[in-house]
Amino acid sequence: MRLPFIASFLLCGIALSQPAVTSTPVPLKPIQVGQLKVWALRDGLISLEGSLLSGITPTEVRRLLGGKDAAATPVNTFLVKLPGKTVLVDTGIGKDPEEDSGHLSEGLAAAGVTPTDIDLIVITHYHFDHIGGLLKADGSRAFPKARLCVPRSEQAFWFEDEAKLPERLRGRIPKLKAIFAAYEAAGAFLVFEDGAELTPGLRSVSAHGHTGGHTVYAFTSGGRELWCIGDLIHFGAVQIEHPEVGISFDLAGAKAIQVRQDLFRKAAQAKVVLAGAHLPELVQLEAKGTGFVATPVR
Ligand SMILES: [Zn+2]
Repeated sequence: MRLPFIASFLLCGIALSQPAVTSTPVPLKPIQVGQLKVWALRDGLISLEGSLLSGITPTEVRRLLGGKDAAATPVNTFLVKLPGKTVLVDTGIGKDPEEDSGHLSEGLAAAGVTPTDIDLIVITHYHFDHIGGLLKADGSRAFPKARLCVPRSEQAFWFEDEAKLPERLRGRIPKLKAIFAAYEAAGAFLVFEDGAELTPGLRSVSAHGHTGGHTVYAFTSGGRELWCIGDLIHFGAVQIEHPEVGISFDLAGAKAIQVRQDLFRKAAQAKVVLAGAHLPELVQLEAKGTGFVATPVR
């Protein structure tokens, strides 16, 4: 039996509290970072309840969310064109005919890229809103020419010892294995160590906390840096100003807060462009008090 969407989505690490609203049109114009061209491709739009946050009062959350109890939250993937290489960071939720998701293929088309143009896919972590687009409905690879690169720490977190996984996550293992098996069978699956350089101008940065191997991808070009930060942050309206605020999705809450504060501080110092899977825009941060302020990068 098919799970109702709310149940299936809870399995993904994100709780949907109300029906998704229609996603906005996909941006066509890339953002230039050094020689890199970057497209934020929105796979879907979900609604996240402010009550998921901790370390802040409900009143303050509501104020920061403009008087609302929930935030319309994008599920982004990022297409990055390096000289001679086309990279995709995460793959979104994937197609669900009953929901507002699976728009990645439309976004790629709008950016003038076909799935066969993707050389390299890097994955921030194994929640289903980041890996759901890896396969077509028939179980074959959605990106038949791409090498799929994943962090060894995330592999270990999910597969090394099931008994160590929180019980509520164990049911996801068969689906995860099936997704990666399609790429493994084609010899297109590569597991890398934390901090590895995956191609010139692209290195991984461990950002464990949200999951056991959650990873940030740092692109460098022409003296500028772009970091695809995955789920380092979920609520832009709250956790930029208050990076100390946690969210129930983070499996190691204190560690996730510490890594967010640490990477935000480094990003602000180096004027890094940050691309969040659940942020509405690419941003640059500036330190302010105990938190940060964000300037959109367009
Ligand atoms: Zn996510």
